[in-house]
Amino acid sequence: MSSDGLPPLRDVITRHGLMAKKSLGQNFLLDLNLTGKVARAAGNLEGATVIEVGPGPGGLTRALLSHGASRVIAVERDERCLAALAEIQERYPGRLEVLHGDALKTDFRSLAGGETVRIVANLPYNIGTELLVGWLTTEPWPPFYASMTLMFQREVAERIVAAPGSGSYGRLAVLAGWRTQARIAFDLPAQAFTPPPKVTSAVVHLIPRLEPLPCEASKLARVTQAAFGQRRKMLRQSLKSLGGEALLEKVEIDGTRRAETLSVEEFVALANAT
Ligand code: SAM
Repeated sequence: MSSDGLPPLRDVITRHGLMAKKSLGQNFLLDLNLTGKVARAAGNLEGATVIEVGPGPGGLTRALLSHGASRVIAVERDERCLAALAEIQERYPGRLEVLHGDALKTDFRSLAGGETVRIVANLPYNIGTELLVGWLTTEPWPPFYASMTLMFQREVAERIVAAPGSGSYGRLAVLAGWRTQARIAFDLPAQAFTPPPKVTSAVVHLIPRLEPLPCEASKLARVTQAAFGQRRKMLRQSLKSLGGEALLEKVEIDGTRRAETLSVEEFVALANAT
């Protein structure tokens, strides 16, 4: 038995035949010390409702519950995991809700049911960015969550927290920087997972800004897509389809600059001028 009174995760995996499927981005965290570390990166969970994507065999789910979350709502696509998750439901009666479905088709705001939740997940890498963009562009704002604590490939984590001037700075950093304060909490080596992925992972913690600069997410997406789509070109060239030099003059940005030199505030000004 583990310290939470449930069987060790390796036993759970063997008993339920949970051979990892690559197509579902399954790299499991089986060390409860590590899942505990992820749960703690989310802050004090006492009394919190947490939405988790991809609980798998339930390592992180167990940590969230043992760290005081009053309720965890978990969305899992793999039917094979449901029996393992049912054992956790028995151990924590009334505190774990499991939805069998595709996170990409889930309306998370409705799932939160009017409560302000925390989102905590060891995300399947193939859909992590898409889920994050969905949560960053949700309306209305402030959003239905108080924080997001998410595991990504280290390279993606760097693209989320990147500052202007860095090679990782791009659309994701502008979007995340506009609406949240994002930081990398810690790295996890590939060997921490079963099976190990090819790359290092990192946990990113994002807290929504209560009053981000007013802007329409779709306009910001259009401007950053054009600017970073041709990131080596000068802005007067890359933004030609959106007004080029005339647009840049409106917001007093030098057309010879390149996308990666612009601050989030400057991108917002450009978006608002389109
Ligand atoms: N939370 C577990 C852990 O930390 O060990 C598993 C994490 S694993 C990286 C990703 C999980 O997401 C897997 O359990 C996988 O089945 C699930 N998953 C993959 N695609 C999904 C989708 N579209 N919707 C919901 N869950 C998905």
